[in-house]
Amino acid sequence: MSERTNEPRESVCPFCGVGCGLTYDAERGKGVGWRGAVNTRGELCPKGVAAFEHVDHADRLRTPLIREDGALREATWDEALDRIETAFGEAIARHGPDAAFFFASSKCTNEANYVVQKLARALGTNNVDNCARLCHASTVAAMAERFGAGAMTNSLRDLTEADVFLVAGANPAVNHPVIFRSYLLPALKAGTELIHLDPRATATTDAATHHLPVRPGFDIPLLNAMAAVVVEEGLVDEAFVRERTTGFEALRAFLDEVDVDAAAEQTGVDAETLRTAARSYGSADRAAIFTGMGLSQHHCGTDNVHALLNLALLTGNVGTRGAGVNPLRGQNNVQGAGDVGALPDRLPGGRIDDPATHERCATEWGFDVPTTPGLTEVEATHRFGEDVRVAYVFGENPAVTEPNVSRVREKLASLDCLVVHDVVRSETVEFADVVLPGGTWAETDGTVTNTDRQVQRMRAMADPPGDARRDLDVLGAVAERLVGEGFACDGPEAVFEELTRVSATYAGMSYDGIGTGSQRWPFPEGATEGTAVLHEGTFASGSTTADLRIVEHVDPVDPVGDDELVLTTGRILEHYNSGALTRRSGTLVRLRGTDALQIHPGDAARRGIEDGDRVRVANDRGMVELAAEVTPGVRSGTVFCTFHFADPLVNTLTGDTLDPVAKIPPFKHSAVRVTVAAADN
Ligand code: SF4
Repeated sequence: MSERTNEPRESVCPFCGVGCGLTYDAERGKGVGWRGAVNTRGELCPKGVAAFEHVDHADRLRTPLIREDGALREATWDEALDRIETAFGEAIARHGPDAAFFFASSKCTNEANYVVQKLARALGTNNVDNCARLCHASTVAAMAERFGAGAMTNSLRDLTEADVFLVAGANPAVNHPVIFRSYLLPALKAGTELIHLDPRATATTDAATHHLPVRPGFDIPLLNAMAAVVVEEGLVDEAFVRERTTGFEALRAFLDEVDVDAAAEQTGVDAETLRTAARSYGSADRAAIFTGMGLSQHHCGTDNVHALLNLALLTGNVGTRGAGVNPLRGQNNVQGAGDVGALPDRLPGGRIDDPATHERCATEWGFDVPTTPGLTEVEATHRFGEDVRVAYVFGENPAVTEPNVSRVREKLASLDCLVVHDVVRSETVEFADVVLPGGTWAETDGTVTNTDRQVQRMRAMADPPGDARRDLDVLGAVAERLVGEGFACDGPEAVFEELTRVSATYAGMSYDGIGTGSQRWPFPEGATEGTAVLHEGTFASGSTTADLRIVEHVDPVDPVGDDELVLTTGRILEHYNSGALTRRSGTLVRLRGTDALQIHPGDAARRGIEDGDRVRVANDRGMVELAAEVTPGVRSGTVFCTFHFADPLVNTLTGDTLDPVAKIPPFKHSAVRVTVAAADN
């Protein structure tokens, strides 16, 4: 880093939800791990090592910008804030508070997200959401409904005691590498079996005992068939089912009708492999599920997860060490952003329709809190320029990450005023009317909550460059203009203390208590670390039982024509989400600077495609061109690429038909035509 660098301090990696302890090695000029709460040996993946490279990048936003005569020009903070005050004031005066929408950020701190959601509510709207909507909203919805908490049921540490891991729709070897290397692999070496449910054979599959290469969109019949085998072969944990569940007889009657062989054929999985995997999971003393976006990012994502929860409940694998259902969260603070209420139907610590939560917030905040749930992120973009007139985008890049993104770009341009608060000139900045330069993770004090509910502290090691300000200072200045001086924002520790008063989830935690370790929620009085295993004896819902439920298959929303393939998207090790930060890291770009379309050799041959050919991928929503990577690692009928590169803009192809419960889009299933690019030219 530069002359702005202060003392290297113990912070947390800004990328994924693993939450590795990260600091700066000035001599070597790169990130190094410290022995954090998760990476206890100081291990990092390449993204953590390169995490400082965007901090001083030439593309850093160093001064506010405002749009004038169609172009962005440098401005003072007063000019930028004046523009926001006028635009938001006029929109709300004319159309009411729901004319405003706030994107919070699952890669920013709990404190910043808390302030964003409080600001929205102070203006009188629940129109606030974060990009959890795009990744695990369905997992959270299903788990919250059945168990009472939308989070990992177990801790990483106790999960190493499992006899079997079922990894469903996730590739932790690549996407959560420190969890894979430091928690899963040692257990696998000690004899734990791994069942991998994924349409692709990935680095995770290399370590698997059984691979179920499911057709995208057919997870429910596969999971139902596994549950049917569990019942058929007498592997139900009868005592657990009797004491901790309801609805068994109805589910058993439903599963009795499942034809396992037919389901295997429907889902594209070998029937014997399916039976063996189900037997392995069902007969294990302790079986732990890890679930990822392969299950959640469908228009039936909530039902997919409900089917998965049935398996865990039928076999008694909930509320005990080495078991449970454990969503591998994406961004470094996606868990925390939801916990602190940056969601349209939740306040800090509870649902918007829970009177006690409501009263707690209203009392602490001193204003009436709106009671009608707001719009979710994708719903809101559909209404930009209509009833939603102004938007504040904090640390997200919707011009790349939203589904059917060509449409979203048109909608961004149709707003009366788009404010983008970010650290680099992202693609969304190009649609902004006002740009506010914030602070990177390395310039930030605050807390983040990782995938296994551990709250850790980030510590600033540098000052923001130029006129850029730390996020809480930016948000405080905006709030002062929009709701007046009573909106206190007195630094991260004071905000965290307020959070602990408002939210029972964070009650009892403190900066001092977290120190250079972590505190995990729930955090009972007198605890030092927090609760590792949820739902022991009683579910977080307060009930001693959770229901078993019948889950029917839902056809994929994009019908796949004879000449079409199913596009599924995901991540790679070297880049992260929209790539706004990782594409600005020289090291990561050198490791992987372009995208490729993985296609099965049979599908490639039928289209005259050879490895390395430029191919055109198209559907009614859009078209992209990229190189073909011909590989048997992706199942026939399916193609795969990432969404990290704004060019090609892969989300022009993805659809925006939403899951009816979680309102998550179906990123994992888009019908596309794939042709050699030259053939069409
Ligand atoms: S595993 Fe995740 S948190 Fe750890 S260094 Fe890599 S990106 Fe950062």
